[in-house]
Amino acid sequence: MVQRTLSIIKPDAVQKNAVGAILKYFEDAGLKIRALKMMKLSTEEAKAFYIVHRERPFYNELATFMSEGPIVPLVLEGEDAIKRVRDIMGATNPKDAAPGTIRATFATNIERNAVHGSDSEKSAAYEIPFFFSALEMPEI
Ligand code: UDP
Ligand code: MG
Repeated sequence: MVQRTLSIIKPDAVQKNAVGAILKYFEDAGLKIRALKMMKLSTEEAKAFYIVHRERPFYNELATFMSEGPIVPLVLEGEDAIKRVRDIMGATNPKDAAPGTIRATFATNIERNAVHGSDSEKSAAYEIPFFFSALEMPEI
């Protein structure tokens, strides 16, 4: 099934000059970039994005990290895009991420792990319109 998924190049990866390298992983896998921008979240906006994690011990720190500098949110489209993006990203903790994945290559630790990817259709349905209006994601 053709799906859309929300990815974010996180502040650590933007800071490392890895935006182009990370986009290349997705494009080389045949995924289509359907929307893309650079922006900076407030801590409150980062908390709203990660609202599902509000009870987790890392929630406040995560929101601080995600608002420390610019991020690059993007929408990717393709067959099975949600799972494929997660596979290309690698495990949350870079210590567990398979060699050749984005996180194995660019993550610093379990928090500063370079990229986000929606984990389900339900998450994608919340996360895509969180960042992109219809005007910012034109139908091709
Ligand atoms: N995170 C963290 N500590 C943890 C687990 C996660 O700081 O113990 C951060 C990390 O940046 C991660 C994000 O919280 O990407 C969301 O966590 P999730 O479990 O949803 O991982 P993901 O779906 O990003 O792999
Ligand atoms: Mg997640």
